[in-house]
Amino acid sequence: MRLTDEHAAFRASVRSFVESEIDPHADAWEDAGIFPAHELFPKAARLGLLGLERDPQYGGEGADHSFQMVAAEELGRSDVAGVAMAIGVQSMMATPSLAAHGTDELKRTYLAPALAGQQVAAIAVTEPDTGSDVAQLRTRAVRDGEDWVITGSKTFITNGTQADWLCLLARTSDEGGYRGMSQIIVPTASPGFSVAKRLDKLGNRCSDTAELSFDEVRVPVANTIGETGRGFQQQMQQFVIERMYAAYSAVGSCERALERTRRYIAEREVFGRPLATKQYVTFRLTELQARVEMLRNHTMAVCEAYLAGEDITRGASIAKLTAGRLAREVADTCIQFHGGMGYMEETWTARFLRDSRLGSIGGGADEVMLQVLARLDGLPA
Ligand SMILES: Cc1cc2nc3c(=O)[nH]c(=O)nc-3n(C[C@H](O)[C@H](O)[C@H](O)COP(=O)(O)OP(=O)(O)OC[C@H]3O[C@@H](n4cnc5c(N)ncnc54)[C@H](O)[C@@H]3O)c2cc1C
Repeated sequence: MRLTDEHAAFRASVRSFVESEIDPHADAWEDAGIFPAHELFPKAARLGLLGLERDPQYGGEGADHSFQMVAAEELGRSDVAGVAMAIGVQSMMATPSLAAHGTDELKRTYLAPALAGQQVAAIAVTEPDTGSDVAQLRTRAVRDGEDWVITGSKTFITNGTQADWLCLLARTSDEGGYRGMSQIIVPTASPGFSVAKRLDKLGNRCSDTAELSFDEVRVPVANTIGETGRGFQQQMQQFVIERMYAAYSAVGSCERALERTRRYIAEREVFGRPLATKQYVTFRLTELQARVEMLRNHTMAVCEAYLAGEDITRGASIAKLTAGRLAREVADTCIQFHGGMGYMEETWTARFLRDSRLGSIGGGADEVMLQVLARLDGLPA
């Protein structure tokens, strides 16, 4: 896949947005444990960042997925992963199903304001008792006339305290396992909905993460996204896009970390000479750079396959697995070559190490990616 001058110009504008609208506030937002999504998202929307691939009819940009890839890479270069993740939730995790399967009415009411950055969206799948095994989720939506009555709880929900609406996955029939689930839009202003707890985290600290409670929350059946009972399948498709977001942004974050570390070793002297003269150090960074470029080649190939309408489950699982592991290795190596300074909170490496750790857990742990891949290889995983 060849990127064009148009991609390069777009990349430059996203980089400038990150450098002017996100990075200067990174420390303050990290300390606060939250960033002001309702202030930042309209600015992101003005650049088209929240609806790149969406239909212009609902305020989207009508661009193709390759621009989403470029945006995610650039967001990954930010000083702070939490904001990038929140923007990723809004654009690539909570809204793709609605855009693909929602009714015109639902899209006008929920998608359009989300694309404009006026409303904050969250994706609510994980529950206190089940994360990796989505088929075991227990939150129930029981039909009463023209309403769903929802009871249950969700946890680790990104944008959870600031969200105006959730793309909720709930059980809508007594069929077990992956059958009988539906995706339902739940406005957080609904009576019976509450934020049970804002969660304190190792990294991505400026992204608000919450446990959510549903006590007989009543929403119209018309808020169902797509087909009732097909929620699991629709969510699996949405997860595939989510996993690509994780991989694209890891490419950006790793590239920037390696650039910064190359600069550091050129300046830092040990035993009377720049650290960069130590072959072990340069070879190690060079090898990691090569692996990041391999990952980028893979993510670009998956992007191309997606644009061609192919099933990218396998490619996305490989991308997510590789990105999660590589980002951890890059973060650990960068901190190592910064020595004691790398361990200091004042150096970018400390936050990067904490933020990077999520890649192998969130949106499907490494082992879940391996399970998907083993099954595709015909193994009894
Ligand atoms: C910061 C953060 C933000 C998140 N944001 C969201 C969000 O916005 N919306 C949402 O719905 N969820 C969100 N999550 C939840 C996330 O997707 C889950 O944490 C993840 O899917 C793992 O589920 P779990 O935590 O229940 O771990 P578990 O399912 O309890 O698994 C624990 C560990 O067991 C291992 N494991 C799991 N399955 C297998 C297997 N088949 N074979 C071998 N080993 C296995 C893995 O190492 C895994 O990490 C977020 C999580 C975090 C930490």
